Amino acid sequence: MAKTMSLSKSTLIRGLQCQKSLYLYKTAYNQRDKIDKVQQQIFNRGHRIGELAQKLFPGGRDVSPPNPYSYDASIAATTALISLNFPVIYEASFKYQGVLVALDMLVLKEGKWYAYEVKSSFKISKTYLLDAAIQYHVITKSGLKLEDFFILHLDSNYIKKGDLDLNKLFKATSVLEEIVEKQPFILETIKQATHTLSQDTVPDISIGKHCFKPYTCDFKGYCWKGIAENQIFDIGGINLDEKIELYLQGKQKISELPELFLEREKVKLQSQALQQEKAIVNTELLKQFYNKIQYPIYFFDLEAFQSAIPLFDGTAPFQNIPFQFSLHFIEKEGDKPIHFEFLANESEDPRKEFLDKFLEFTTITGQILVFNTLMEIGTLNQLGQLFPERMKEIKDRINRMVDFEIPFKDNYYYHPSMKGSYSLKAILPTLVEGEDYQNLSVKDGQEAMAIFNELLYEEDKSKIEFWRQHLLEYCKMDTWALLQVFLALKKLI
Ligand code: SF4
Repeated sequence: MAKTMSLSKSTLIRGLQCQKSLYLYKTAYNQRDKIDKVQQQIFNRGHRIGELAQKLFPGGRDVSPPNPYSYDASIAATTALISLNFPVIYEASFKYQGVLVALDMLVLKEGKWYAYEVKSSFKISKTYLLDAAIQYHVITKSGLKLEDFFILHLDSNYIKKGDLDLNKLFKATSVLEEIVEKQPFILETIKQATHTLSQDTVPDISIGKHCFKPYTCDFKGYCWKGIAENQIFDIGGINLDEKIELYLQGKQKISELPELFLEREKVKLQSQALQQEKAIVNTELLKQFYNKIQYPIYFFDLEAFQSAIPLFDGTAPFQNIPFQFSLHFIEKEGDKPIHFEFLANESEDPRKEFLDKFLEFTTITGQILVFNTLMEIGTLNQLGQLFPERMKEIKDRINRMVDFEIPFKDNYYYHPSMKGSYSLKAILPTLVEGEDYQNLSVKDGQEAMAIFNELLYEEDKSKIEFWRQHLLEYCKMDTWALLQVFLALKKLI
């Protein structure tokens, strides 16, 4: 194979997760899964945090290359700036024996060089340490002595008040000792990766837990093709590790499921539904559940986002900020539903308006159906702490909430097409013909959150308007689906 292929910090980390992934990345790059909006938002977030951290060391020279394939000029510029004792270099680039790394910030203080790598998280993970250890290896082998190596990460205790205080938002933790210890391991890692890339065939590595840890592999679509349709992977109540274990043992069909698993009520029921190819309905339990629900009924769903950089006073990094909700309301059985909605303006703290509108639209006493109340109750309680004068009303709304996930989570109803999923998206088409989420541009709550997060930095008005419309459509669909499922399930009893 291509014996001269260069390696980078990220390809070596990829190889540590799976050598096949490294090989495919270098030889079949186009087979990678498409980057979705959530991943793109995570990349964008990383860039923004990186740029913000540069302000801790102002006046630096940025030697980033114009594209990821032309690092030679960046390496040359880094070498020149170091020889001139330039005090701060952003994206300082080094190459040693075919391994390329770029460091977020290289800082000269009192004649000594310090390395800084920025991460948009609170904790320093094992992967971040390996990352830093690879950088340390290449930088020091290139001939630069590092006095210390810091990871700049976010401080969870920071609360924004006025302008961002970068010295408090970021925490610099020295990792020098740990990464020096890892040097022999890094040498082995490079050796193994070089060996893998010198082969003529794709490494024979089966799917496994490593496809998800530490990251979901972007060759999953390639390696898992066909496996997802495997019956065992369509059953809930068996965790992924167990499913992979069964798969590797060659047990792929529902009929091959060991007795031990069928002792689990959920698994037994789902395997029955799969074998009978029809829904299983526990009408008795459904009746009991429906007996507790009376009109008027609200169908409620909210969306929230977490920004790594706190945007509003009184918020911490990654704090949950609700930005949107949808409510369908039916006063009496048979009435036409009325729809209410709220979507925050991207430039202001939405929390007060969100709460005011929610409380205003739910004034009429009635039960509030939510599909999994965890997020809604948690968010409303947080808002109650911020606006204690409204806590009584908030408690009233929480007391009126009914978790409509229960009939599905507890298997009062299960259809084989749900494939072990209890999401509304999976349930809706099994109960209501012609209704699904297929034509929506926003796929799920994670994507809604990522889109709204990006709108906060978007300047193109038409793009903002476009995505606002789609966010409204998506959230409306969620409560519409909830309402439809509520009515359809009722018919079954
Ligand atoms: S999907 Fe799994 S087996 Fe395939 S390359 Fe990725 S980690 Fe390796």
